[in-house]
Amino acid sequence: MKDDTPFWKRKTLEQMTAREWESLCDGCGRCCLNKLEEEDTGRIFFTDVACKLLNHDTCRCKDYRNRLKKVPDCVGLTPAEVRELDWLPPTCAYDRLAKGKDLYWWHPLVSGDPETVHIAGISVRGRVGACESQVPDDQLDNWVVSWPGKVPRGAGKPAVADGVKKRTGKVGASDAKKRAGKVAVTKMQEPKPTAKAWLAVATPKATVPRTAAKRNSK
Ligand code: SF4
Ligand code: SF4
Repeated sequence: MKDDTPFWKRKTLEQMTAREWESLCDGCGRCCLNKLEEEDTGRIFFTDVACKLLNHDTCRCKDYRNRLKKVPDCVGLTPAEVRELDWLPPTCAYDRLAKGKDLYWWHPLVSGDPETVHIAGISVRGRVGACESQVPDDQLDNWVVSWPGKVPRGAGKPAVADGVKKRTGKVGASDAKKRAGKVAVTKMQEPKPTAKAWLAVATPKATVPRTAAKRNSK
């Protein structure tokens, strides 16, 4: 008999196909915000300064295919990376599944609508303060914000938004364009001490890597 259980509930991250892996990215864009690591504590702080390749409206990468070449500190996600990184947003599907949690109602795989991640206030749409090309690294500490590290109030309540149809999850072609979806094996940039208390731009960018996706498909 056919098992209708959605793939993310019956497979481990390692068991997913490349397409399934890529579809887990909800397109929020939070991981494409620059981050700072505090020198003394190692604590990570988000800023609202976005990667130069992030489209602030769609919240997708403008050049997903070449992102790792164009942005060397863009991190391609693999299942191993997901379990190791300590700065993925608490709303991130990869992080949630790695911790044994389920997807929220607004995840496109659950809602069937890529807009729900914006409707629910999860994505960075309308909240990006600046592009990194406009902000020198030593001024990033002026752009620290807390919201990317939090789950918005009410985000866990189903169907808050009018007109949101709830469907159950097929792996649509929700593109894995952007980061989330990318699984590469790029390493994060090494922290560079600055004059301030910040260790450095621990950047940002997590993508759901295709490299990893290939591995998964084996
Ligand atoms: S996927 Fe990588 S390169 Fe593309 S916008 Fe995000 S951080 Fe930048
Ligand atoms: S990989 Fe990035 S864009 Fe995709 S769900 Fe996670 S935080 Fe959001």
